[in-house]
Amino acid sequence: MEKHEFDVVVVGKGNAALCAALSAKDQGVRVAMLEAASEDEHGGNSRFAGGVMRFAYSTLEDLRRVTDISDEEAANSDFGTNTREEFLDVIHRLTSYRTDPDLSEYLVNASLDTMAWLRSKGARFILNHGRQSGMVNGKRKYFGNMPIEVNGGGAGLVQYLDASVKKAGIELYYDTRATALIYDGERVSGVRAKHKGKAAEFHAKTVVLACGGFEANPEWRTRYLGPGWELAKVRGSRFNVGDGLKMALDIGAAPCGNWSGCHATGWDRYAPEFGDVNVGDQFQKHSYIFGLLINSEGRRFVDEGWDFHSFTYAKYGGEVLKQPGQFAWQVFDSKVKNLLRSEYRIKFVTKVSANTLEELAPKLEGVNAENFLKTVREYNAAVKKDVKFDHVIKDGKGTAGIDPPKSNWAQALDTPPYDAYATTCGITFTFGGLRIDKDTGQVLDVNFHPIAGLYTAGEMVGGLFYFNYPSGTGLVSGAVFGRLAGAAAGKAAKG
Ligand SMILES: Cc1cc2nc3c(=O)[nH]c(=O)nc-3n(C[C@H](O)[C@H](O)[C@H](O)COP(=O)(O)OP(=O)(O)OC[C@H]3O[C@@H](n4cnc5c(N)ncnc54)[C@H](O)[C@@H]3O)c2cc1C
Repeated sequence: MEKHEFDVVVVGKGNAALCAALSAKDQGVRVAMLEAASEDEHGGNSRFAGGVMRFAYSTLEDLRRVTDISDEEAANSDFGTNTREEFLDVIHRLTSYRTDPDLSEYLVNASLDTMAWLRSKGARFILNHGRQSGMVNGKRKYFGNMPIEVNGGGAGLVQYLDASVKKAGIELYYDTRATALIYDGERVSGVRAKHKGKAAEFHAKTVVLACGGFEANPEWRTRYLGPGWELAKVRGSRFNVGDGLKMALDIGAAPCGNWSGCHATGWDRYAPEFGDVNVGDQFQKHSYIFGLLINSEGRRFVDEGWDFHSFTYAKYGGEVLKQPGQFAWQVFDSKVKNLLRSEYRIKFVTKVSANTLEELAPKLEGVNAENFLKTVREYNAAVKKDVKFDHVIKDGKGTAGIDPPKSNWAQALDTPPYDAYATTCGITFTFGGLRIDKDTGQVLDVNFHPIAGLYTAGEMVGGLFYFNYPSGTGLVSGAVFGRLAGAAAGKAAKG
């Protein structure tokens, strides 16, 4: 059998794994990365990510630690803030106060330093003009507390970090699926794997598992998320099937967090089963806040305008999945056409248009047309007319007397032409993971004792997200906990 010997073995090659490997390497040890995918498909969900990144900042100088901002840009922009308190508050609020307070505090406190560290490792960031900003009184206002994204999106981030990993001399094994931990009952000393179809062993003093959740495994989705979840489309990588979680649970690691919860969004109804790297995140449809979401019964089923999409999109995919037939149409009139995000204008989009609502109704495949028209009439009548529409703030232009209400950005659907987009549920990643020591990223066993030699990061960390999630936190979490676990694994390997 093929055998290899390293100080640290990192399983996975997404953002969390790349950060862990670079951070371990900084300790002066020999590091290898094992990637289940081929070199063409490497990079996990990180490669599919849009690339927005949420971190704590309160001043211009904080933002300048992450990217260059000229004095002119600064003078013409309103970046807002995302203070530690604001960031922590949104995580607590969206998770219904179930987030592990120590983990989320660590994430928030380390987020800005980690962004600067990513920059030092070659990542390049830009201002997030396209998706989260608008002009207000001659200034560009960034909303959603997230003014910076990585250049080139998640694919760009993976490319930057991959270049750093290669420069650092970290050894890469593609087509290498880790299958089990080498464990003598006391410490982990490597992994068993299938390398290009052949059994192999990778011995190491420490192992970092950063190989994603179980979102791409329909059997586990049904088992843990519940019946119906096998029908969701996978937004990203097809390689995250829960291998790392299984390997760790098999040796007594403690499961932690919201195992029946996940991040899932509205996604083109006829998108392929798994993500397509050439399309990236563009099958998503995040501008529903300006329109109506209609199910097969012709009814609305969520408050589309509860908050900016950043704070509802990760939850509403699951709401779409619960509807009969697992689909929903997003319906807009021409007043908001120029506010729809770029993903509404891609080549592969399931869209119908009409000049009247009566003409549109039968075009909404699978929808009860009569109920749809009634829903729109009732909604139009319920829109508050005395409040001004403003897309860059939560404008309070809501509805009165209908259920569910629409709390913001409610305008009557009355200006042709009308456009409608068919969506289903796209799963992004699962929330359930492993319990870790927050000072080291070391995996704890079911007695809450650290398992010698075993660390984890990224989607595999349990306890951070419950029910919902603020956009841009996945990449930052992967980087923060990847960096932490890599440093601790590297130090431990040095002895
Ligand atoms: C379409 C889309 C858009 C997104 N947009 C954003 C965004 O804009 N901002 C944001 O912050 N987050 C975003 N996310 C979420 C973010 O991508 C994830 O939270 C993050 O990438 C997870 O990183 P990770 O390293 O833990 O996992 P991944 O990047 O998925 O990496 C897991 C790695 O493990 C490998 N692997 C799996 N099993 C094995 C095995 N047995 N052996 C070896 N290797 C294995 C995989 O091939 C992969 O390389 C998005 C996700 C998707 C899918």
